[in-house]
Amino acid sequence: MRVMVVEDEEALTTLLRYNLEAEGYDVETVDHGEEADLALREHVPDLLLLDWMLPGLSGVELCRRLRLRRETERLPIIMLTARGEEADRVRGLATGADDYVVKPFSVPELLARVRALLRRVKPAEIAERLAAGDLEMDRVQHRVRRAGRDLHLGPTEFRLLEFLMRSPGRVFSREQLLNSVWGRDVYIDERTVDVHVGRLRKALADTHERDPIRTVRGSGYAFDETFG
Ligand code: CA
Repeated sequence: MRVMVVEDEEALTTLLRYNLEAEGYDVETVDHGEEADLALREHVPDLLLLDWMLPGLSGVELCRRLRLRRETERLPIIMLTARGEEADRVRGLATGADDYVVKPFSVPELLARVRALLRRVKPAEIAERLAAGDLEMDRVQHRVRRAGRDLHLGPTEFRLLEFLMRSPGRVFSREQLLNSVWGRDVYIDERTVDVHVGRLRKALADTHERDPIRTVRGSGYAFDETFG
């Protein structure tokens, strides 16, 4: 899960990064509203922690803009603010934020709100177990079983399967898979995706078993929603 932190107070950014990473999130930090706006046009994280007062484009204005774009209209957003007045709380939520935390806040409380919001908006992505047909994935123990037997997947195949299983039926291009499974800063050939999908298929199914991965010619791959 990726969290973007947009905050201009360096000490707070450092604290948030440290604690979010300790919880297992991938963290990206940005200290300017405009910069965040540009970054969010290129890639959308799973959740945004957004400071209300930023130099230049404010958090409130950025939040409003994000809600007008299709790609970010549902992005989970928690606003961070130094102001605690009721009127400002209401304004913060009226701009489209999902939740609101007043500085100074306790880190455990913020983390609990992050978890709660993700659980609410992305239940499949935060679930400890994913299952389809006779296939089960335990995301905590990093185990995959099919019809009760343990499957041995490499780390990349595991992440690939996890990503596909989270959105059954949805077709992902090789480029989308590279960005989401390998990371957007990694420059590798799209054919690498085919190699790993091949390995994943081999690990998932014996010759007599059904293949849960669907190849969509000219488009990419999907986890077959009719599997099971
Ligand atoms: Ca600030």
